[in-house]
Amino acid sequence: MKIIETATAFRQEWANVNESAKLSLGLVPTMGFLHEGHTSLVKKSVSQNDVTAATIFINPTQFGENEDYEDYPRDMRSDLEILDHEGVDLVFVPSLDEMYPEGFETFIDVGSVASRLEGEYRPGHFRGVATVVCKLLSICRPDRAYFGQKDAQQCAVITALNKDLSLGSEIIVGDTVRSADGLALSSRNAYLSNRERGKALSISRGLFAARELWQSGEKAAEKLKSVVVDEILTGDPDISVQIDYVSVSDRSSFIEVGLVEDSGNAIILVAAEVGTTRLIDNVLLV
Ligand code: AMP
Repeated sequence: MKIIETATAFRQEWANVNESAKLSLGLVPTMGFLHEGHTSLVKKSVSQNDVTAATIFINPTQFGENEDYEDYPRDMRSDLEILDHEGVDLVFVPSLDEMYPEGFETFIDVGSVASRLEGEYRPGHFRGVATVVCKLLSICRPDRAYFGQKDAQQCAVITALNKDLSLGSEIIVGDTVRSADGLALSSRNAYLSNRERGKALSISRGLFAARELWQSGEKAAEKLKSVVVDEILTGDPDISVQIDYVSVSDRSSFIEVGLVEDSGNAIILVAAEVGTTRLIDNVLLV
């Protein structure tokens, strides 16, 4: 596995590897502190491409002023071991300066899909995500790029970005990976105490209960949402939970829907702060 730190070196290395210009490249962008959610995307890429590249870069422009950029968990040595073990060929680990050199002032103006939910609660977040992903896709020029359904709205923003700016990669979305008890894996789960983790389980429990209710015939979004809210607000009263939103939305536009028909195409999304850790999760109603 080759570790590369600059855009120029990445392009050169990929040109060397791909001398005959016939190999396919899969790209898995991450912010590191890798878990099985990340490795599921890496496995997908390794199985679908001749060469797989991963990136590790904690992108400051997608964090709000009072968010956890400084504290975001890091473990480069373990990440590199994991990626090597999974069969990744190239790892791009750019410095802050490499991605945002002095004088950097060009950002992506994201569209309506980024305006609600995460976009509303984290102003500027998707602008930062879209900008860094645009840079990574431009540097690496992958045939396929892999993202996780756990960040459903992010997937929609990136799919639109890729199409609108003709970046030319195929965007592939991998299923959300959960621990056996249902909690969606996230690097931020490392912040949770045992009791907070117990409380956080109510998020996936609520989502699964709402999906079951929909499967048994309930179409009213308000009913489905109240099942999720009730589940989250019950349980350990000593652990604080603040719900930012529970939403039943169209899975492409992320516009709120009132009734979820049998054909589905809807998604239930949650963002909540458990203790001081903000978590997001979702399930598809399909
Ligand atoms: P991050 O390092 O959190 O920026 O995540 C890098 C990629 O991994 C993103 O495309 C995420 O959506 C994806 N990812 C994170 N957690 C999970 C998970 N539990 N299951 C599947 N994909 C995930």
